[in-house]
Amino acid sequence: MPSKKPTSSRHARHPEKRAAHSQAKAPARAKNATQRTAAGRSVGTTRGAGQRYVIGVDLGGTNIVVGAMPLDGTREYGVRTEPTHSELGADSVVERIGRMIDEVIATTGTETGAARRDFIGVGIGAPGPLDRAQGIVIVTPNLGWRDFPLRDRVSARVKLPATLDNDANCATVGEWWRGAAAGGRNVVGMTIGTGIGGGLILEGQLYHGSSDVAGEVGHTTIDPTGRRCKCGNYGCLEAYASGPAIAQRATEALAGGEASLLRELIQDDMSRMTARIVYDAATLGDPLAVEVVRETARFLGTGVANLLNIFNPDVVVLAGGVAAAGDALFEPLRAEVRRRAFRPAVEACRIVGGTLAGTAGVVGAVATFMLQTLGGIGPHHHE
Ligand SMILES: [Zn+2]
Repeated sequence: MPSKKPTSSRHARHPEKRAAHSQAKAPARAKNATQRTAAGRSVGTTRGAGQRYVIGVDLGGTNIVVGAMPLDGTREYGVRTEPTHSELGADSVVERIGRMIDEVIATTGTETGAARRDFIGVGIGAPGPLDRAQGIVIVTPNLGWRDFPLRDRVSARVKLPATLDNDANCATVGEWWRGAAAGGRNVVGMTIGTGIGGGLILEGQLYHGSSDVAGEVGHTTIDPTGRRCKCGNYGCLEAYASGPAIAQRATEALAGGEASLLRELIQDDMSRMTARIVYDAATLGDPLAVEVVRETARFLGTGVANLLNIFNPDVVVLAGGVAAAGDALFEPLRAEVRRRAFRPAVEACRIVGGTLAGTAGVVGAVATFMLQTLGGIGPHHHE
C-alpha cells in the first residue's frame, strides 16, 4: 500500500481548490453548498470523458446507503438507501449490498455513460471495532456479527477490489473532503445518532491508532460514576448525548409531571420519544425540551472541550441527526467549550454541523478507498 500523501500536496497542485476551501471557513454551511454546486456544474462539461468511479457503502445497524462518485469527488451518483435487516443474517446483508452496488453501477452508467470497467473499487464503512488490514468486522452489537470478513465477501460478490474502514472515520473523511470540515488540517468528527462515533484527521491524515480504535470519542468518560454505557463503561459521553440518550433524558424529565408540548408530540406514548422530537419541541419554544437540549449541549460541549485540549483541531464537525438541532444546540455547546478549553484552542477551532446530511458515510467510504489504494484523495492521484 502506498503511503498516504498529505493533503497539502493536493492543495498545492490545485490552487483553485485551496481558494475554495479557505473561503469556506466561517459560515461553512452556505459556502460549502455553493462550492459543491459549482463543482457539480463543472463536472458536467467532462461527462463520461474517461472518468473513473468508486462506489461507497455505508453499512449501519438500521440502513445501508450506497452511491458512486468520480475520483475527483465532484458529485454523487445513484445514491440509494435500504434497510439493513441484519436479523436475516450476514449472507443476506452481503447479497443486498451486492445488489445495491449493481444498481448504483447501472444508474451511474445511465447518467454518465460510464461502463462497468470504469468502476475501480468499493469503499465500505462499517461499525467497529474492525481490522482494516484483514478487512474483518471484529464485533458489531448492532449487526450481531463476530469476525466477519466483510471486505472480501463484498469484493467477491461484485468482483471489484474493496476496502474497509470504520463508519465514523468515513463520515469524518466525507465531511473533510466534501463537506463542513473542508480545508481543515486537524479535524475531529463526531457522528451523533444511535451511538456517538468519531474520527480524527491529524496533520492532514486520517488517524487510526495502534489497533484501529482511535477516534471513539463517544466512549470517553464525562462522569466517572455516571450512567452505564452499552460498551460496559460508566459515564460515557454516548450514554448522555446519543439520540436514544437524549430521548431517555426527555422521558425522565416528563416523568416529573411538568407540562410540556412533548406529551402532545408523542401522544403520551413514551416509546415514541426521539431526539428529533425533542429538537422540534425546543424549536417551538417548549421550556422542558429547551432544557433537555441545553443539557445535551453541556454534555457535548464537555466532550468537545476535552478534544480541543488534546488535539487542538481547527475544525470540529458534528454530523448526524444532531445537525438538525441548529443554534438551539450549537450556541450553548460553543459556550460550554469556551468555558472549559484553553483559549488558544478555542480561538483556533470552528465547531460546525455536518453539511452532507445522509451521504457523509458514502462520500467518506469512497474517499477511504482512495486513501487506502491510491494513497490520497483528489483527481491527480491516479495520473
Ligand atoms: Zn461507552
